[in-house]
Amino acid sequence: MRRQRPFWVMHPTEADRNTCQCKTHENLQYMAESLYNQGLLQTKNLDEMADAIVCDTKSKICAYSECPECRVTTFQMIKSPSNESISVTQWVLEKIGDASHDKMTVSVKKEMVTTEDALVTQFQERLAHYRRHLFNIRWQYGTYRQVRENLQETDALIHVDFSENYNCKYSQEIQSVHFGGSHQQATLHTGVLYIKAEQPIIPFCSISPSRQHDPPAIWAHLSPILTQLRERCPGVTRLHFFSDGPATQYKQKANFYMLSTEPFKMGFKETSWHFFEASHGKGAPDGIGGSLKRTADSLVHHGTDIPDAESLFLQLKQKTSSVELFFVSPEDVEKMGQRIVNGPPLVTIKGTMRMHQVISVVQESIKYRDISCVCKMMDGVLDCPCYGLQEFTFARSESQQEDYTIERSAPALLRPEVISKVHIGQWCIVNYDADPYPGIILEVEAHNIKVKCMHRNGVNKFFWPSPREDVSWYGDDQIVCFIPEPVALNKRSVQIDKKIWHYLEKHL
Ligand SMILES: [Zn+2]
Ligand SMILES: [Zn+2]
Ligand SMILES: [Zn+2]
Repeated sequence: MRRQRPFWVMHPTEADRNTCQCKTHENLQYMAESLYNQGLLQTKNLDEMADAIVCDTKSKICAYSECPECRVTTFQMIKSPSNESISVTQWVLEKIGDASHDKMTVSVKKEMVTTEDALVTQFQERLAHYRRHLFNIRWQYGTYRQVRENLQETDALIHVDFSENYNCKYSQEIQSVHFGGSHQQATLHTGVLYIKAEQPIIPFCSISPSRQHDPPAIWAHLSPILTQLRERCPGVTRLHFFSDGPATQYKQKANFYMLSTEPFKMGFKETSWHFFEASHGKGAPDGIGGSLKRTADSLVHHGTDIPDAESLFLQLKQKTSSVELFFVSPEDVEKMGQRIVNGPPLVTIKGTMRMHQVISVVQESIKYRDISCVCKMMDGVLDCPCYGLQEFTFARSESQQEDYTIERSAPALLRPEVISKVHIGQWCIVNYDADPYPGIILEVEAHNIKVKCMHRNGVNKFFWPSPREDVSWYGDDQIVCFIPEPVALNKRSVQIDKKIWHYLEKHL
């Protein structure tokens, strides 16, 4: 359409896209540094080590520890580790603030002491997880590049993300002591739209007083830009969405259901949603949100009141010409919610947590797989059978109704939508890189759950590590379900309820 590339649209360099810089793996980096300094490792380059323990860095089965050749390959140490002590820096979450204020959780660096033996074991275990993480980062970015470069007349690429909520404020408050009190917040859903490789991109943002970030909100926010796309480019019939994958937002059954219904109602024929690897989905949308909020703050500083979402929208609309802006009312979000309520029962789809691509070429039906594939995109085919493509139909067939009933009647498999402090002490399953670990919830802070986890020593066999406990913070979406306390197998090991184990094997 008519725009130039705005200065603030970030194009991450290839290097940013191909390596891991997330918190989770900074800890692994520190382990590598300690082992390097102790003379056990000849390198501290994680990518190099992850690449060294697979036969082929472009092979999914190697990365996923499914290759018979390299499944249990560990990285070669220079010498064998002793039980001498070794210190290692780690990021841990800690609470700050006193009782009179809301406690905040912050990440702090801590110096830990352990033994060479224990550190090497932990390092090798995590390196095996890391190779999958690194593979997924590279693969999903590779897909993004491929889709963008191969866009046809019929294609649109839409990269979206929720921006941090904007705190609305009055100009006068900036000087006043009351600043920082309770304010209206506005939700910003940001994105960029690409239509055909050589066209400039179209940045957009929708603003809403509704603070929902769930699938009804996602589709209420997408609706205006899709409507506009339909009007301006009627030739576009295939939508390729890209986003990161928080399970409470994009990567869940209700979003998949809407992906297989909403665009079709508007006249689109095929859709696909690609998920970047967790913690690696930032990019252009992030820059748009930041830029808009800076514009709003500067308006407030110069005397303009922005007391609510509607005025934020109106003010930005006057000041911004490089971003398509839309307003989404709470009623719009509500209406979308009704469509889910009135739709078929939404059962959890097997393997949701590990999927990176969902496709819909038939209404109310999706196909999905662990990693994205677009090998037949140029031939007009989105659902090539690669990487174990699976299918799921939302319609109320008898067998699905039955699955639904089974799921409903097995409360032990369920988990509450929101995990809170009342759940401290509860047994749960943590999903660590698609492997289930039982543990006990120790602490809950916003979306972070502190869990003391067991370690595995066989199929459905777990034990408490000692003397060092495995206590860590996990994201809310890593808690798969609650479970009853595992039962003892022998003196040392326990077993998770067999039915639940069976479920986990099928779903993770
Ligand atoms: Zn990472
Ligand atoms: Zn291999
Ligand atoms: Zn393919």
